[in-house]
Amino acid sequence: MCGIVAYVGQQDALPIIIKGLKRLEYRGYDSAGVALLNPNGLTVYKKKGKVSELENHLLSQENLLSKIGIGHTRWATHGEPNDVNAHPHYSSNDQFAMIHNGIIENYDVLKTDLINKGYKFHSETDSEVFIKFIEDIYANNDCSLEEAVRLALHKVVGAYAIVLMNKEEPDTLIAARKGSPLVIGVGDNEYFLASDATPIIEYTNQVVYLDDYEIAVIRDGKLQIKTIENVETNPYINQLEMELEAIEKGGYEHFMLKEINEQPRSIADCMRGRLDAQNGRLVLGGLRDYMNKFQNADRIIITACGTSWHAGLVAEYLFEEFARIPVEVEYASEFRYRNPVLSDKDFIIAISQSGETADTLAAIELAKSKGATIFGVCNVVGSSIPRTTHAGSYTHAGPEIGVASTKAFTAQISVLTMMALKLGYKRGTLPENRYMQLLSELETIPSKVERALKMNDKIHEIAKEYKDARNFLYLGRGYNFPVALEGALKLKEISYIHAEGYPAAEMKHGPIALIDEEMPVVFIATKDSSYEKVVSNIQEVKARKGKIIAVVTEGDTVVKNMADHVIEIPATEEAFVPLISVIPLQQLSYHIAVMRGCNVDQPRNLAKSVTVE
Ligand code: GLU
Repeated sequence: MCGIVAYVGQQDALPIIIKGLKRLEYRGYDSAGVALLNPNGLTVYKKKGKVSELENHLLSQENLLSKIGIGHTRWATHGEPNDVNAHPHYSSNDQFAMIHNGIIENYDVLKTDLINKGYKFHSETDSEVFIKFIEDIYANNDCSLEEAVRLALHKVVGAYAIVLMNKEEPDTLIAARKGSPLVIGVGDNEYFLASDATPIIEYTNQVVYLDDYEIAVIRDGKLQIKTIENVETNPYINQLEMELEAIEKGGYEHFMLKEINEQPRSIADCMRGRLDAQNGRLVLGGLRDYMNKFQNADRIIITACGTSWHAGLVAEYLFEEFARIPVEVEYASEFRYRNPVLSDKDFIIAISQSGETADTLAAIELAKSKGATIFGVCNVVGSSIPRTTHAGSYTHAGPEIGVASTKAFTAQISVLTMMALKLGYKRGTLPENRYMQLLSELETIPSKVERALKMNDKIHEIAKEYKDARNFLYLGRGYNFPVALEGALKLKEISYIHAEGYPAAEMKHGPIALIDEEMPVVFIATKDSSYEKVVSNIQEVKARKGKIIAVVTEGDTVVKNMADHVIEIPATEEAFVPLISVIPLQQLSYHIAVMRGCNVDQPRNLAKSVTVE
């Protein structure tokens, strides 16, 4: 995955790059490094660990003033996280330095070839092979560096966003992408390159999104973009709408906490301009041109990974209930490799916070090649998925920096809920009066989420009691089953406690064997159509002395008498419960993780946007 940043202009490059790397650290934090170029030469500085380790290392270095530079924060794929495997990587003559985000799949073959030619390798990375492969082409073809890059890109297999510097050209950056994101910020005689717009926003709001198979050359204050077929293209300048404060902590201790608490606003933002319950209006611009296809689809297939896959499971219930179209929810990583049966009567919904998820992108390409219509539900504006799908709706949750997804999940569900209601209404499977009723209720969700957040202190107390548990079970039924999965995932991700989500009734087919007085079981037991059944499941756990933490509807008395702890949330339509019932589960995992001393925003081994397979 990793984050890459580069700068060329009149300012001191290093502070810009370090700040940018910190903003991108959510993408990977195994190591960090920079390359700078000044009269003392082209120098690489790199360190295992976070960007702060690199900063400490730089304190003892001299001659750091440079008007050009590249920086990298790594999520290791090839070779363990250490100083040597950190980026940037040099060419063997130290003339070039390169940062790389992605995976070069044929690195082994290329490496063997290069070794036979006498090249030496210091790291275990595919990236070092990549730069030395470019170097070899440069040396043997008597060509420019950009031409060597172009020729190399015809031979490498895999995904990459790269930026190169050349010792001989102090005003030049060369960048290219395929599969991994790269944004170019266009300033006043200066350029900023980054994996996403967050390092760029405070300097300029004019950006160019580099496309796959494009090479950007910034030389002498000018930007030129060519395809790898050597055809020049006209850079299209987009206007960024992101606010700087959206990517700062704003007084919260962690981004995750900020993002949990932002949900009343982010859900409202997601609905703004789309939902007008009073006038019975629900408009999703992205759907307009594809409504016919959507309405007449034989099947809806939802493909996603991680938390987005859980949002997809909620959507399965929504679409089947309201629109009566069969739905399948697929892990993108499985879907792409199992030769699925698809046709132009299938409507595919691809969900991804970052819009860069490699498996989801590959699933989209596959479905596209079989004639299906693809609709994206993404958060990051201008990212790869919205640019490859036929149509889509942004979730408008604002930048999500905490690695564990919170507000992006509820925004995804908000979009999917609106889609399902609209589709049901159009198809006539949702009668008008019921449709109007649901729209009115949907409008109240942000204020109900606000109320749910008020249980925070109580949840903090519960967290104290269970922070040392070794396992957790999360159980729910119907719409709350995906919420149980999401609650368990949140806890695993940030507190490293083993947790499993299960449909409550499935418990007796296995997991019940795990229950004893040491096992906390989180039930989502809101007053809905399966309430009585869940109450029975609670009894079954209680009979085996499990500890019961129950999320219930305000005013519930039955579960209160059985559970060790109850967390009350406002009542709503059954179909909208996930938007509220997930809130206390996010808070519970947050508090437990903080109490265990875990790095909540950057949990070990994870990265925010999974741009590798
Ligand atoms: N494959 C490269 C490595 O392991 C780059 C990984 C990344 O995108 O951070 O170093």
